[in-house]
Amino acid sequence: MPTETPNADLKHFIAEHRRLFVVTGAGCSTDSGIPDYRDAGGSWKRSQPVTYQAFMGDVLTRQRYWARSLIGWRRFGHATPNDTHHALFRLEQLGKLQLLMTQNVDGLHQRAGSRDVLDMHGRLDTVRCMGCEHRSPRQAFQQLLLALNPSWAQLDAADAPDGDADLDGHDFSTFTIPPCPHCGGILKPDVVFFGENVPRDRVARAMQALDEADAMLVVGSSLMVFSGYRFAHAAAKAGKPIAAVNLGRTRADPLLNLKVEQPCAEALGFLFENESAASAEEIAQ
Ligand SMILES: [Zn+2]
Repeated sequence: MPTETPNADLKHFIAEHRRLFVVTGAGCSTDSGIPDYRDAGGSWKRSQPVTYQAFMGDVLTRQRYWARSLIGWRRFGHATPNDTHHALFRLEQLGKLQLLMTQNVDGLHQRAGSRDVLDMHGRLDTVRCMGCEHRSPRQAFQQLLLALNPSWAQLDAADAPDGDADLDGHDFSTFTIPPCPHCGGILKPDVVFFGENVPRDRVARAMQALDEADAMLVVGSSLMVFSGYRFAHAAAKAGKPIAAVNLGRTRADPLLNLKVEQPCAEALGFLFENESAASAEEIAQ
């Protein structure tokens, strides 16, 4: 039952553990205007996003992807952190954070000030060449796409998750995508697509952080994707307590020691109670 007050059980959970391994998901960023993929039951709200195999294998899929991204980036690229990001930054300031592992690709934790962040699924503000690994800023690529596709720049469509827009019913084969300026290779957002593996070194870094933490905290994720769920599984196996703040079901529900069904920013509100020494000490002890 949602309340207007910060969650006392969650405050206690955070106070009684010294180092937290935090996992965040789409629920953290919905207040920043970035839509979520899943409903409260953990099911898809919309058609599944493009897969790695389709993107790499089919030029029309890439044209459709970048045409929609051209529209979606205008707002996604200007999203700003909300109170959930600020609260998790506060957690880091209090010295409670082992690692903040996010499944989001929006970079909003870093924008809020968090430093110890692992972007498990990469970052949408970077474009990567699949041929030579050259990386470049998405914002510069946006300017290039606009210059090459002036008539598409006039279009508008509703936002979809991950900087996508619900643009359909156009002849995407007329959309021009520039190749990599260095090797002519295929350019792709530097994010892990569905059907693509998370780089092993990222998983290893996160597992090590979990190993060094005494508890795990999930914020705004249903953990439906294995790349997130596996950490809950590993934490439970190691006997580390797990708390989750999420509106709706998570795949890890049977493993949780504490489940908070409240909006993230509200549940974590005690981190802002004031910046007074007394309150900080209570949480940081
Ligand atoms: Zn290249």
